[in-house]
Amino acid sequence: MPFPFDRIIIEVRTAAVDPVLSQPIDSITREWIMCGIVAYCGHGSAVSALTDGLARLEYRGYDSTGVALNPGNGREVKFVRAAGRLSQLLVALTLDEECNFRIGIGHTRWATHGAPSTTNAHPHRDCTGKVAVVHNGTIDNAVMLRTELMADGHIVATEVDTELIAHLIEDNLSEARAHEVIEGPDLLVAAVAAATRRLQGSWALAVTAQGFDCVVVTRYRSPLLVGESEKAHTAASDVLGFELDVETIRELNDGDIVSLSSRAVWVDAHGRQIPARAPLLGPGPVAAATLDGAPDFTSKEMAEQPSAARHVIDTLGGRLEHGRLLDDLGLPLCCRVRLVACGSSFYAAQITARVLTRIGGIPTRVVIASECTADVNETDTLTVAFSQSGETADVLSAMDAWPRPWLAVTNNPQSTLARRADGVLGLGCGPELGVAATKSFTAQVVAGSALAIAMSAAHDRISGAELARLQAQLAAVPDRLAATDEQVAPIAAELAAELAHQPGWIFMSRGAGMPYASEGALKLKELAYRWVEATPAGELKHGPIALVQDQTPVVVVQAQPAARLAVNVAEVAARGARIITVGGGEDANLPVVAADEEPPWGPLEAVIALQHLALGVTRHLGHDVDRPRNLAKSVTVE
Ligand code: GLU
Repeated sequence: MPFPFDRIIIEVRTAAVDPVLSQPIDSITREWIMCGIVAYCGHGSAVSALTDGLARLEYRGYDSTGVALNPGNGREVKFVRAAGRLSQLLVALTLDEECNFRIGIGHTRWATHGAPSTTNAHPHRDCTGKVAVVHNGTIDNAVMLRTELMADGHIVATEVDTELIAHLIEDNLSEARAHEVIEGPDLLVAAVAAATRRLQGSWALAVTAQGFDCVVVTRYRSPLLVGESEKAHTAASDVLGFELDVETIRELNDGDIVSLSSRAVWVDAHGRQIPARAPLLGPGPVAAATLDGAPDFTSKEMAEQPSAARHVIDTLGGRLEHGRLLDDLGLPLCCRVRLVACGSSFYAAQITARVLTRIGGIPTRVVIASECTADVNETDTLTVAFSQSGETADVLSAMDAWPRPWLAVTNNPQSTLARRADGVLGLGCGPELGVAATKSFTAQVVAGSALAIAMSAAHDRISGAELARLQAQLAAVPDRLAATDEQVAPIAAELAAELAHQPGWIFMSRGAGMPYASEGALKLKELAYRWVEATPAGELKHGPIALVQDQTPVVVVQAQPAARLAVNVAEVAARGARIITVGGGEDANLPVVAADEEPPWGPLEAVIALQHLALGVTRHLGHDVDRPRNLAKSVTVE
């Protein structure tokens, strides 16, 4: 399968300077909020472009959705909004709307100010109902602005910070009109610019208004891209929001304002017209964001794991000698490593730590990002942040606690984390739209292991022969993943159907198997909403064994030392547990194609079986596989 991101290494980074506040971005405290914005101005159907884009952005939040449709020629803007998911909005839209609008803005919300209700759904409007605004971010001075606007006679109808922006634009429009200085899109641009000067916080905005046949977009510390195709100018929070025929995609810098009509006109933070920013990416990622016959994105992405692993190995496998990988990344060779991550990425970091210590003897610490405090002043330490999206707020703020150098291991080389790091190890596994990490986890394990091998080689801790053996072991991973997938999928589905209604589970392993047991348990919690205890098998007797009753499912990820694990299996079996073994042996309940000798990164193939088990239980219970409750793809709040 071709990969849309073919660069895996990005050059050395220097700290960026905030164009609006003129200070290094690193010194600013941020709060990253999700939500999906789409905007459209073109010759096609605005409704289908907006709703298709929102469907692909729904992973960013799904509290409520809405569109504002501008018929142009001075006619009234139409608002259609619904609490809940996009499907609710689709019910509310009529055929007339499907066909007749060429300009519009849309939003899928992750609420910060005000409950997730229809009233609070975006787009928000001003007092006149003429100005429509969608927003991603938070307005920190909302309380003050609300008081001021209400004192000036504005009717503020919702609890949402975004609504205040619509009223500010309303004021600026009437003021500019009174002076009759400018008109057309420039007038709306000026009104939006003046409104943003009153804001503190973060925003990506798309604005349209009655009397203006255009959409104006701008951003400050929230992501926003504009796209161009033969038939439209569009904007979206990320590349997946664009239509498949998008030809160029450009990223706004903080403070940029772009008006989208029959052309796209760019203005910088100081109101000066500027050339369009350089194109970022081709349409590859958008094309990859289709189901292609798969029942859901999660299973499609699970099936892509062998090619995701192969891509990382092809790119990194030849750079392991003498620490060439670190040179290519522009990073010094440090004595110690600190790994920072959350969720599935944390387990990938644990596996990387194991490889670093086992084969390189390199002192390594793994830190849960949300628990991070700079309590130990370790010098000569490389800090490696694992974040699939590169936008995880806990990771971003944890990084501030540690001195450079920073390495980002991420699937998004355009992300905030990548931009702030000194070196970037991109995973290149393409868009992952299922909220639960699958292929990005596998790619992280392979990339982290390659990094650990390269560091160990750079420190002269492994011989040439040992390096060659490890490279051969790594090269065999994709085929083993593919063979495991084929072999285990039907067996896992059957087992899942049998066990789906079991409310409480135990996952256990030892040594290198434990992070995989934890990851498998997390998948079952995230997707199937089961209570799961993941425990090192030796810890059972210190407490968790009290949970075991007749038929309690105990999933055992086979790992070394096998004999000691077998003792723990016997302990739970004696108490009536339903044992499900995951491993290479013929008698395993979930058989995987494992290496003859356990590699330093442990039984990676087991994760394929565990994902299938979680997927099977989820399907059997009838839950939404791609969009589990209460979760969002990249957690952008601390
Ligand atoms: N602060 C806005 C709200 O609460 C936008 C949040 C978002 O980015 O979804 O609706």
